[in-house]
Amino acid sequence: MPTIKGSWSSFFINLGNGDRILIDAGTRRILGFRKDILDVSHIFITHRHTDHIMFLGALLERMKRNKRKKPLTIFCPVNAFYHIQMFIRFFNPRGVPGFVDFETYTPNDPEYLISFPKSNTEMWAAAACHTTMAAGYGIIQGKKKVVIVPDTRPNCKTLLALAKGARALFHDCTFPTAVHTFAFSKGHSSPEGAGVDAAKAGVQTLVLIHTSRVRARDQQTLIDGAARHFNGEIRVAADNTTFTF
Ligand SMILES: [Zn+2]
Ligand SMILES: [Zn+2]
Repeated sequence: MPTIKGSWSSFFINLGNGDRILIDAGTRRILGFRKDILDVSHIFITHRHTDHIMFLGALLERMKRNKRKKPLTIFCPVNAFYHIQMFIRFFNPRGVPGFVDFETYTPNDPEYLISFPKSNTEMWAAAACHTTMAAGYGIIQGKKKVVIVPDTRPNCKTLLALAKGARALFHDCTFPTAVHTFAFSKGHSSPEGAGVDAAKAGVQTLVLIHTSRVRARDQQTLIDGAARHFNGEIRVAADNTTFTF
């Protein structure tokens, strides 16, 4: 949940050579951080929950006010399409702005490998294990792979396969240690769950994200929880943190 200390899910990714994308659009704060998010060519939505799409309507409205002409493609799981339209229309009563194109997909569908030739990047959506159809995204540049999974329970086979050998895994860490089993049943992870996944997938760096309910606790507690199972590098994302891989 949003608090004074943090906000909802959104990841701005600079792929290089002018390719810029957004994964999720849950928070207005990202706009204060970087004005060039208004130039992204694609927005990849992980799933239809409010904390991942809340800012989408306001973001498109801002792009429209800036007289954007450049096409914008919004990728979303097929069952998120209706929800997303509603959120967009709330801020854009005249309808979805003309520069927007939608692509709906089912996570794991191999047809949906998206290429960005300028930055030699490929993106793929694997199914997450959540309470609704949800995706984790793999960003692949040659031999380097970064995987971002905001909402999932641990031990999700499709995600483990996607994350195998990744340079970095950004993993759900919604619930604190004490409620690991509860987290699992809610389609979310604890630091331990994220650590187990990072170890199983053999990633180099684990970044704990979506830490909403445990934000008040100190970062070291989260790192210690994940480190019980994973002995690679562990970092915790806070609002407007930048990572380079
Ligand atoms: Zn969710
Ligand atoms: Zn969420």
